[in-house]
Amino acid sequence: MDESPLLNVADVVIGSYANGPGKRIVIWVQGCTIRCNGCFNPTLQPHVAKILVKPDTFAADIVKLSIDNECEGVTLTGGEPFQQSQALGVFATLIKESKLSVVCFSGYSASKLLNSTDLNVKTLLRNVDILIAGPFQKDMNYPNRTWFDDPDKELVFLTDVYNKNDVFLNDNVEYIIKGEDVHFSGFIDEVDSKIKNIFQSHDTLLF
Ligand code: SF4
Repeated sequence: MDESPLLNVADVVIGSYANGPGKRIVIWVQGCTIRCNGCFNPTLQPHVAKILVKPDTFAADIVKLSIDNECEGVTLTGGEPFQQSQALGVFATLIKESKLSVVCFSGYSASKLLNSTDLNVKTLLRNVDILIAGPFQKDMNYPNRTWFDDPDKELVFLTDVYNKNDVFLNDNVEYIIKGEDVHFSGFIDEVDSKIKNIFQSHDTLLF
């Protein structure tokens, strides 16, 4: 019987091109205590229950959605994925067993994660193809950040599923309409921020 804890998910978007190679399903987990200067997802910091899911059944749902929508993999972001490493380790193992790729963002440094002796962290890392690690720094002047080109972040290929030839720009920012909400993801510049603020002023759910 699977006794792993529930995974606390803030949101899921299907069909993103701005959060890793190709077309992906992006999962934002809820909760992060790292407190980066200028955190771009402050609403995802509190460890409060949002959508609580069993990692194994959630993985089965995500695999089906990936097949139905021709996505090549899953991207884990947040919030801080490694603060839910036990549940995400189970989830990512099942995703990899289904031949989908896994990209994972983290606010921890790559060296901290790769040197961790925590078995749950090790399990999660074993099932990640690309790790994008390091805290966000608001004051760094770098206007054209992308998921693979960000001076704050280390890009680490942990498997041979991808290599540097797979790292290219699809879109660095997306606006995805989901139901009545507009979701922003990727790296938002000044113009995008103004558009985002317009939506925020209308109580739209944003990420
Ligand atoms: S790791 Fe991400 S969610 Fe956590 S504080 Fe930094 S930017 Fe915010």
